[in-house]
This record gives sequence, C-alpha cells and structure tokens, in this order.
Amino acid sequence: MSRSRHYDIVIVGGGLAGLAMAAGMADLPLRVALVEAGPVSAECPEPGEGVDSYDPRVSAITLASQQLLAQVGAWEAIATARICHYTDMQVWDAEGTGEVHFQADEVNADNLGHIVENRLVLAALADQVHNATNIRLYDNAPVAGMSYAGAQATLTLESGDSLEADLLVAADGANSRVRQWADFATREWSYKQKALVTTVKMSASHAYTAWQRFLPTGPLAFLPLGATDAPDRYCSIVWSADTAYAEQLLSLDDEAFKKALGQAFEGRLGEVEAASRRFSFPLQQRHAVDYVKPGIALVGDAAHSIHPLAGQGINLGFKDVAALQEEIRRALARDEALGSLAVLQRYQRRRKGDNLAAMAAMDGFKRLFGETALPVRWLRNTGMKLVNQTAPLKRQLIRKAMGF
Ligand SMILES: Cc1cc2nc3c(=O)[nH]c(=O)nc-3n(C[C@H](O)[C@H](O)[C@H](O)COP(=O)(O)OP(=O)(O)OC[C@H]3O[C@@H](n4cnc5c(N)ncnc54)[C@H](O)[C@@H]3O)c2cc1C
Repeated sequence: MSRSRHYDIVIVGGGLAGLAMAAGMADLPLRVALVEAGPVSAECPEPGEGVDSYDPRVSAITLASQQLLAQVGAWEAIATARICHYTDMQVWDAEGTGEVHFQADEVNADNLGHIVENRLVLAALADQVHNATNIRLYDNAPVAGMSYAGAQATLTLESGDSLEADLLVAADGANSRVRQWADFATREWSYKQKALVTTVKMSASHAYTAWQRFLPTGPLAFLPLGATDAPDRYCSIVWSADTAYAEQLLSLDDEAFKKALGQAFEGRLGEVEAASRRFSFPLQQRHAVDYVKPGIALVGDAAHSIHPLAGQGINLGFKDVAALQEEIRRALARDEALGSLAVLQRYQRRRKGDNLAAMAAMDGFKRLFGETALPVRWLRNTGMKLVNQTAPLKRQLIRKAMGF
C-alpha cells in the first residue's frame, strides 16, 4: 500500500553533497528525509593492498571542506582511514618551461589538503545519517516523478510512496531530474573531453605532492594516495583528454598504457609499476541560471558541474551545503518559512558568484593550455613563472586552493 508523508526538508540524492546536507541537519528540530536511488551504507571495505584495493573515485578535499566534514561529525572517521595529506602542488606546462610550485610552508600550514577515496567520505557521512533520530532514510528508492505547484513539491518514489516537503533540496547530481522537473534553466557545453581515472603504483615517491602537467590534449594529474605496503608510491590518476585520444588510451593494453602514462608524465615519479582497471567520465560544464525557486534549492553538481582540472567540484558543493545549512539555521532562529524565496535567495547570493568565478577560471585554464600558438605559449609560460616568483600573489592563490 502506498503512503503519503510530509517532511520539513526532503533531500534528493545521497551522494557527497546530499549526505553532507543531511548530516548537518541531525541536531535541528526538523523532520528530514533523505532519498537515494542506490544503497546508503556506512560500511567501508577494509583497505587491502595493491592498485585494485582503491576506490577509482577520489577527491582532493580542501581544508575548507575538511572543516565542513568535521562540523557534521564525519571527519574523525575519515582522518583515521587510508587518506593522504599533500603539502605541495606542482603544475607545469608540457609546451614550455612554465612551472608553478605551491608549498604549505608558504602560508604557514601543515598541508594543503587531503586526497581521500570517495567511498570513505560517503561511508563516514552515511554513519552520521544512520545515527540521526530526525532523519528518515529512503535508500534504494529512486524518485520517479515530481509535481510542483505554489512552492509545494511532492515527490513520487518508484515504490508508489509520495513525499511532500516545505523545502526540497536537490542534490541528485549533474543530470538532476529534480532540476528538470522543476524547470530550472541551465547553461551548458561539452568540453569534448573524457576524464580517464585509474590507480597506479610508481617506482619513486609521490613526495606528498599533487602533480599536474598541462598537455595540449588536456591536463594529467597524479594525486598522492596513502598505502600500507609502499606508503608514498601510490597515486590516483585523472587524465583529461580530448574524446578520441581518451578512447585510444582506454583501449590500450596494460603495458602500452603504463608506457604512455609514464611518457606523458615525463617520468617525474619514475616507472609506472602497476595500473588498475581504467574508468572514464565524459566532461561537461553546466550551470543552473538560478539555484532556487520557492520551496526548492539546488546544491552540488545539481547546480554546477565543472572540469576536474583543479579538483574543485565537490569542494564547491560542500560550500553550497555549508551556506544552505547556515541559512536554514538563520531562518529557524527568525521563525521564517524554510522554503521562502527570501531565505533561499540569501543562499543563492552567497554561492552563485563564487561558483561562477571557479567555473570561469577552469574554463579559462582549459582553453589557455589547449592553445598551441607560439605567442600564447610564451605568454602562459611567462605568466606561470611570474606567479611562481610573486610571493603575495602566490600566497593568495594557495589560500584559494585550500578553499578559503
Ligand atoms: C574524474 C573526476 C575527478 C574528480 N575529482 C574531484 C576532486 O578531486 N575534488 C573535487 O572537489 N571534485 C572532484 N570531482 C567532482 C566531484 O566528483 C563531484 O562534484 C561530486 O561527486 C558531486 O557530488 P554530488 O553529491 O553533487 O552528486 P553525485 O555524486 O552525482 O550524487 C548524486 C546522487 O543522487 C542520486 N540520484 C540521482 N537521481 C536520483 C533520483 N531520481 N532519485 C534518487 N536519487 C537520485 C544518485 O544515485 C547519486 O547518489 C571529480 C569529478 C570527476 C568526473
């Protein structure tokens, strides 16, 4: 028999953004529902050893994101798992001598962030949600449809149950159905690139550095991973490449791929000793024109998806979550309706400009480094050297990379 229920807040999507949103509501006097199409598990497999023991999806978590995860009670569990801090970021141009080297020391910090397997963050957040007495979790429960009239959203689950919300938070990812059902306009374009993701074991130390080499076909990142057998020699690879080249890389046999990867990285970390299975993700830039309508707010990739070249996607998503949580608390303190446009527009004002600036920067980098004309190459190499030598500018960029 299908049922109808009413909640103060319904969050659709139990990815990183949706789970963080829910976990931050655990101490509030609100009835909250979290609806996720797949399973939501607080269990994480034992770390194991070797390249196949890692989640292929990892994130560079900035200090700002770490603060949000600590605030919602999830960081403690993440910090004791297999994660890796990075103290340096090194970025260089394949077509010249331009190089930028950021160091935590330059801003008197211990590190610039951590590389964390997504499944660890998901499990730590899920644990908080499972333990919250005011959150009803609907997992393995795809939302099949939605009606939206007069600021009131009603969701229909595949099971036939329907859920009404005073505030509906759409955290259902880049292809958000909620965003489409509620008729939010977006601006989007394809980069005509795919991101190839794999885990590798190198013969030399990753030196606790996030490395990125800009090739004309797209950026190649080596992100340091923690390990028990060879603590500083595993890396997660994010190799963004024009679609045809990415397909070619995906089709190579293991030996040929390891060779191509080593060459593309100029052998900076020695030989590629082992590589796990390869996965790929199409890359698209998409930005909702508005993040809010009466009774609905978009967060995370549902509001914006960007090129992974600076590892900012979920870091921006966590900032959305932090801002919306603060506005919900403020609305409760002032006895304002949670779904009112005045409350939600405060959230949008805080986030849209920052997200837009990050997206414009990623797009600019992508175009700048895709350019092979000599004057542009000269200009960007000179620019990189200048940045590297200008201490105040560099400190400002480092703080930005840390999420502040
Ligand atoms: C290769 C690659 C590398 C990246 N590296 C980084 C990095 O280093 N740092 C960083 O900050 N970001 C990175 N990103 C971006 C980051 O992964 C995303 O920004 C982030 O995963 C988005 O999280 P989300 O919760 O908004 O959406 P998602 O992770 O897409 O979660 C959406 C959830 O909604 C659920 N859902 C969808 N539809 C429905 C429905 N109808 N009913 C119920 N549930 C539904 C889905 O099952 C899913 O669980 C990277 C991205 C790529 C592609």
